Amino acid sequence: MEHVLKIENLCFTYHTLQGETEVLKDISFTLKEGEFVAVIGPSGCGKSTLFSLIANLYQPTSGSIVVRRQNEGFTSPIGYMLQKDYLLEWRSIYDNTLLGLEINHLLGESSIQRVEELLKLYGLWEFRNKKPSQLSGGMKQRAALIRTLALNPDLLLLDEPFSALDYQTRITVSSDICNLIRGTNKTVLLITHDLSEAISLADRILVFSNRPAHIIRDFQVHLTRSDDTILASRNAPEFKEYFHMLWEDLNDVRD
Ligand code: ADP
Ligand code: MG
Repeated sequence: MEHVLKIENLCFTYHTLQGETEVLKDISFTLKEGEFVAVIGPSGCGKSTLFSLIANLYQPTSGSIVVRRQNEGFTSPIGYMLQKDYLLEWRSIYDNTLLGLEINHLLGESSIQRVEELLKLYGLWEFRNKKPSQLSGGMKQRAALIRTLALNPDLLLLDEPFSALDYQTRITVSSDICNLIRGTNKTVLLITHDLSEAISLADRILVFSNRPAHIIRDFQVHLTRSDDTILASRNAPEFKEYFHMLWEDLNDVRD
């Protein structure tokens, strides 16, 4: 299968007036089409910086990042979703989901139709005229996801998108959103600090060391489970072993 993302020997250092911060050190990995990969690592190790580099907001100090375009997208092949949903309170849910298209001057018959289909598919059609504050946390995350998917990206970068939700909501919303994303066959990179979330949602996990971050583990997740619900994942016999392994990894890198 073709690579959607190929990163080779990536190094990155921030240069500021306060000095230099070496953040990423020799990162190499590839993502295949349709893969769902979680990135975990200590706070401040450089995960969000990696996303900024993939999204072309910064240039690598050395090494290379290649993103391959697959679909006939409207703009960038990359969709970015952050911790906070960033919905605008003065706009309806409908107008919020069209925001990305509007900013990129891509509002047209087919792009609007695409958003309307997503609103129906994700159970938000009846709520399209509501304001964000009238919706639950999970619904707002869905609306944010539709806004991201409206631009038809090939690669989704999710930077701790569920961490603003309370624990119980977070578990249901994260599995819900991930099932929706899986239905689109997009390639996904998900940053999370929640080990259980990584194990139960991802096909593969990359573990980053302390800053300057390098990859200390890259493995496929295989869970023996009766169905693809979150409870079945967490009850899989392998779950505990993975959790233990990741816990040890992160303890080891802590100075
Ligand atoms: P993570 O997402 O893993 O928590 P970040 O990528 O946000 O980590 O940050 C990695 C390191 O780079 C941290 O030490 C942070 O302080 C530093 N950093 C982040 N952004 C900047 C910036 N714009 N300028 C200088 N240093 C930065
Ligand atoms: Mg971060």
